[in-house]
Amino acid sequence: MPAPVTTPALAGVRTLDHRPRVILLISPATYRAGAFLDAASRLGLEAVRGIDLPHALADYWDVPLGLDFTRPEVAAAELAAYAAGHPVDAILALDDSATLVAAAASARLGLPHNDPASALAARDKFVMRQRLAAAGVPVPTYRREPLTADPATIAADVTYPCVVKPLRLSGSRGVIRADDPTTFVAAWERTKRLLLGEGHDPAATHILVERFLPGIEVALEGLLTGGELRVLALFDKPNPLDGPFFEETIYVTPSRLPAATQQAITTRTAESAAAIGLRHGPVHAELRVNDDGVWLIELAGRSIGGLCSSILEFGTGITLEELILRHAVGLPLPGLERDAGAAGVMMIPIPQGGMLRAVYGQDEARAVPGITGVEITAKLNHPLVPLPEGASYLGFIFARSATPAAAEAALRQAHHFLRFTIEPTIMLRSAL
Ligand code: ADP
Repeated sequence: MPAPVTTPALAGVRTLDHRPRVILLISPATYRAGAFLDAASRLGLEAVRGIDLPHALADYWDVPLGLDFTRPEVAAAELAAYAAGHPVDAILALDDSATLVAAAASARLGLPHNDPASALAARDKFVMRQRLAAAGVPVPTYRREPLTADPATIAADVTYPCVVKPLRLSGSRGVIRADDPTTFVAAWERTKRLLLGEGHDPAATHILVERFLPGIEVALEGLLTGGELRVLALFDKPNPLDGPFFEETIYVTPSRLPAATQQAITTRTAESAAAIGLRHGPVHAELRVNDDGVWLIELAGRSIGGLCSSILEFGTGITLEELILRHAVGLPLPGLERDAGAAGVMMIPIPQGGMLRAVYGQDEARAVPGITGVEITAKLNHPLVPLPEGASYLGFIFARSATPAAAEAALRQAHHFLRFTIEPTIMLRSAL
């Protein structure tokens, strides 16, 4: 009989009779895998990567678990077949694209998870609005229109300002504000081109049009257990997000909003999770606050994206990924309090499209008091695509300070030192 496994991180907490195996569902472009793999290794868990890759490529690259996330039931059946030979304790979606697969596969295997219908509601912005409205959670006026519709006709019948958005993209891709019929038609056509470029079937694709909600925006990171929400962090987004595109930049925690507003944000998030039917695992919510109250923009059944989580530490130096993995495999959670200071991250926006040729000023940026890291994730000599079409950032700046204001100031100062040389991409055309 094999000896029970105790790992350094788990010693004294729980002795397991086997080494828990967790499947991490990731898209090839994710920034999230490294942090989860590190956390799994610290906890002594076996982490298996289920990667969104066509089978032919997965075989070619020797990826043991290549899955097609666009066909959740097929991917879930393949995961169940894998689990028959390799018992699995939890399946975690690291990206939006994987949440349906994680829910469907967990349902098959009897693992605690969100039910697949609620995972769909958290993934599809129209279904989400429907569920929220049905449960009495306030939503902006919204309508779903087929991609093949005539935008000029819709434009004549919309209240402005409004927002045009795809149902299932993420990272604000294709989300565009329109203030009048002319900008509406332009926004529609742009989002439509993006969706067609992504290979969406025009006959089966829709665009959501909803009222623009003015106000400040926050992001809430939470963990659901049996439907009960625990708030892990509330981030202010101090840069206004008024459009026409909605680029994420600075996140700072703890929030500087009054305690009553923070409580209202938590309440709205918990109500929204209940309305959507999310009950288990990490959630990431975006909300807007204005004179009419707190509005849920979106609630995703995954943790915060990019490299942002690295600024969060819980209890005695535990990372967000460790917390999520512990929760997933049923290990006790340590205290969820964050340390007393403030932390911030800037997702460095792409100022213009083109080829990234050089990055300057990193040393100066790193030397700014409070800055704990500068990571340029864009590759030199690769094309950069800004929003609303692009799906990435130039990189991330991280800060820790005594107060949120100081963390924000450090991020701005560090960003000020960074210089990027971006050459316009030259379109080559045939002379004929
Ligand atoms: P995604 O999943 O692509 O990030 P979201 O629906 O979360 O799409 O929208 C991205 C951003 O666009 C939001 O964080 C917010 O800043 C802005 N946004 C989306 N819908 C609205 C709205 N109805 N009113 C105001 N801003 C909005």
